[in-house]
Amino acid sequence: MTEPTVKKSDYLIEHDDYTHWDINLGDDKIHARRVSGRFRNIRWLIMASLLLPFFLVPYLPWGDRQAVLFDIPGRKFYLFDITVWPQDLFILALLMLFAFILLFAMTAIAGRIFCGNMCPQTMWTDLMTLIERFTEGTARQRIKLELMPWNAEKIRKKTTKHFFWIVLCTLTSVTFLGYFSGIYDAWYNLFTLQYNIFEWTSFILVFLLFYVSTGYVREQVCNWICPYARIQAVMTDKDTITTTYDYKRGEPRGRVKKGQDNSDKGDCVDCNLCVSVCPTGVDIRGGNQIGCINCGVCIDACDDIMEKVGREKGLIRFMSHNELENGVTTNNRFLRPRPIFYMLITTLTFMGIMYTLLFKSDIDMNVNHERSPTFTIMSDRTVQNTYHTIILNKTESAANFTLEVSGIEGATSNLDGKTLKLTSGQAKKVTLRIKVPQKNLTSERQPIILKLQSIENPELSKTYESMFFGPRK
Ligand code: SF4
Ligand code: SF4
Repeated sequence: MTEPTVKKSDYLIEHDDYTHWDINLGDDKIHARRVSGRFRNIRWLIMASLLLPFFLVPYLPWGDRQAVLFDIPGRKFYLFDITVWPQDLFILALLMLFAFILLFAMTAIAGRIFCGNMCPQTMWTDLMTLIERFTEGTARQRIKLELMPWNAEKIRKKTTKHFFWIVLCTLTSVTFLGYFSGIYDAWYNLFTLQYNIFEWTSFILVFLLFYVSTGYVREQVCNWICPYARIQAVMTDKDTITTTYDYKRGEPRGRVKKGQDNSDKGDCVDCNLCVSVCPTGVDIRGGNQIGCINCGVCIDACDDIMEKVGREKGLIRFMSHNELENGVTTNNRFLRPRPIFYMLITTLTFMGIMYTLLFKSDIDMNVNHERSPTFTIMSDRTVQNTYHTIILNKTESAANFTLEVSGIEGATSNLDGKTLKLTSGQAKKVTLRIKVPQKNLTSERQPIILKLQSIENPELSKTYESMFFGPRK
């Protein structure tokens, strides 16, 4: 095989240099062909494992309520057995942090793999184009239909497509609302037109978001609107694996003709199938491009062609810049500084979330020592410290609590023998005055223990260590 006559830079664009884009600007609507293969199957599997839980989880009962429910009026979030209160909202912040770092880690290892397989935009676009495939026909038939003047057949096909698009977007929108309003209420109130203003607004916004962005705008969201596409270049390096055309093997491309000497040609038979299946309209033979969402569909298409022409598969494959240019194969793609760093933070964040969720106490106590004065010497030769506390009952029912002090001999408080009654979710401010006989103080500051305990369920308790101040010794 002769060496490619075209310069390397014509084929491969450095990972951080996207000056040479081959990108669909939205002038032409993309009608991508559907192919089957390894990566298509992986995509189906990922979609099923994400979409089925999204659509089905709201129907899962948990006792007398929905298993997963964001109860906005009640200011609670139910996650199976766990109830997250507004005071625990930092868990959501941790979850978001976890999601972002996981995304960074995935990008460092395999580029826009999230975009091509897990992003809601891509998954719903896939469903919308699947509906298009069944109602309007193959890519070729759809292009023909676009160019055809309006007639009965075109009206019938377009109407059927829009009907199913409306069904899918309605299902999506109601499911989304179901996580907040309860799924059965969400359906019932839709059909009886009983949504309140917030529910109608959410329903319409989510519906339109999916209808427009995945039905019409499609790959232009990935190319121009999504901020992640803009920043992903800084997360990758030359060992990041992306869908790559092996130009060394493929060029010079050319059609194979029977009975002719094809030895001067590369392995690419210039069939254009990789372009016609690409959902974002990229010609991957032009080098790594920002429009490529790493879905791997062109790999399936090209492998199929290679098999048919009796050549080795993998002309387009997942590989890194270093692998293509320098023949360096990073066997363990995870053991590089950048992925290790991201994975470390991801693991720590995940452990933090799990610990917080699993060992989250159902009661909470916030204690602030009064600053001025820090202590008062009383006439009965005791020293008094004042604490401003907030007590939270995060259980599902009203409960009675006691607050006891210990840690210094002879310590008593104004709450000794008293009961604090809190309804479910209530936060109560309590002023605590602790007295200690002056003779019992051994230093000017000593630790003191406050214990909040449920009367109905003594196992439910929270211990807090604070400081008790006294005069200089
Ligand atoms: S170039 Fe290939 S991997 Fe990239 S978006 Fe197109 S089909 Fe998917
Ligand atoms: S599918 Fe493979 S053989 Fe066909 S044009 Fe693309 S790279 Fe070349």
